[in-house]
Amino acid sequence: MPCKDHEGCITTALEVADRICSEKQLKFTKLRKDILRMIWEEHVPQKAYDLLDKLQTTNHSAKPATVYRTLDFLLKNGFIHKVSSLNAFVGCSDPSNHEECYFLICDSCNEISEYCDPAISSAIRTITDKNQFMVLSTTLEIAGKCNECAQVLD
Ligand SMILES: [Zn+2]
Ligand SMILES: [Zn+2]
Ligand SMILES: [Zn+2]
Repeated sequence: MPCKDHEGCITTALEVADRICSEKQLKFTKLRKDILRMIWEEHVPQKAYDLLDKLQTTNHSAKPATVYRTLDFLLKNGFIHKVSSLNAFVGCSDPSNHEECYFLICDSCNEISEYCDPAISSAIRTITDKNQFMVLSTTLEIAGKCNECAQVLD
């Protein structure tokens, strides 16, 4: 589903990140801001080397390590999520509230939507508790077709 006010999504995401950084006394540097904005360009997961390419158009000295360090910062603070099945990154719509999310990924248009649902978290906790399994991270990615792409198939 294409987003109706994506400029609004970008502005909000940058404002939220800016606010969280000042609350936590972290530096929201131009580089961090630029990369977060690039990730938010679309609701489509972005790969690290594509981000490097984009960054190098304005910052010729940017190196892969520059991008990876910045992605680490953004991940650690919850501003982005890693989409493991695609080895790519997507902006988080609610960094202060998302502990774990699951994703619906359209394999036609690559649009991704994220959802949090306490029912899923508690189902996972029941399973891991039963197995005395210590969770480090949870990845739930559901591949398929978004409503719009599914209609094209009909
Ligand atoms: Zn949007
Ligand atoms: Zn999120
Ligand atoms: Zn789609």
